[in-house]
Amino acid sequence: MGAVVPALAHGHHTRHRPSPHLPGQVLPPPPLVMLDPGHGGKDPGAIGITGTYEKHIAIAAAVELRQQLLAGGRYRVCLSRDDDIFIPLEDRVATAQDKGAALFVSMHADALHDTAVRGASVYTLSETASDAQTASLARSENSADRYGGPHVHSVSPAVQRILASLVRQETRAGSARMARNVVDAFRPRVRLLDNPDRHAAFVVLKSADIPSVLVEMGFMSNRRDEAALRQAGHRAMVTGAMARAIDSYFDSTGFTRLAG
Ligand SMILES: [Zn+2]
Repeated sequence: MGAVVPALAHGHHTRHRPSPHLPGQVLPPPPLVMLDPGHGGKDPGAIGITGTYEKHIAIAAAVELRQQLLAGGRYRVCLSRDDDIFIPLEDRVATAQDKGAALFVSMHADALHDTAVRGASVYTLSETASDAQTASLARSENSADRYGGPHVHSVSPAVQRILASLVRQETRAGSARMARNVVDAFRPRVRLLDNPDRHAAFVVLKSADIPSVLVEMGFMSNRRDEAALRQAGHRAMVTGAMARAIDSYFDSTGFTRLAG
């Protein structure tokens, strides 16, 4: 896994990292999984046919997944937002870097132009989109920052460097493996799009050091997906599959990084 990145000067205070662990003395902390429920606050995300807001589905699913992961006892878990508040995309990436997350999972249920399309899909970062539908989805997702007003682009130079840096090969490989794990975990349980493992230039996935995926749990533009995602039982099934995928990811990583 990548080296621990320096803490970003962020806000008014410096975040403190714990001291390095000495071998044989203290076990490293469990890896930190950062869940990123999409949208929030003034940005509702996609709005379903019967009026469901994507932001509410995303936070409900993230809270459920956090509970499942914590129950397993293998991870620390944090959410990019605990509440119905607006957070710019780049701040979500910066927070994951700042906290030393080992894995970043963004959770969405966006809308497509074609209302007949339903099913889950998983996205990793690429400068070129895998298909036109995904390119359109990334444009729509990335435009969430239009809600942020003019201050959004005044990010710190440290964050700009991270965003501008090339995604390292091991990060890409980790992201791709995690995406395959999610697809594999969904396949027997959760309806999938055709070619469900997709890629495009999503801003929220542009973390140089942290393997990152964006999961579309379904689409608000489809009546049946919207109805399913409104149900806690369905969300628990989807997040249960995501928890299995996260377990598989860390099983294959042989995680030893000190994720301060
Ligand atoms: Zn979304």
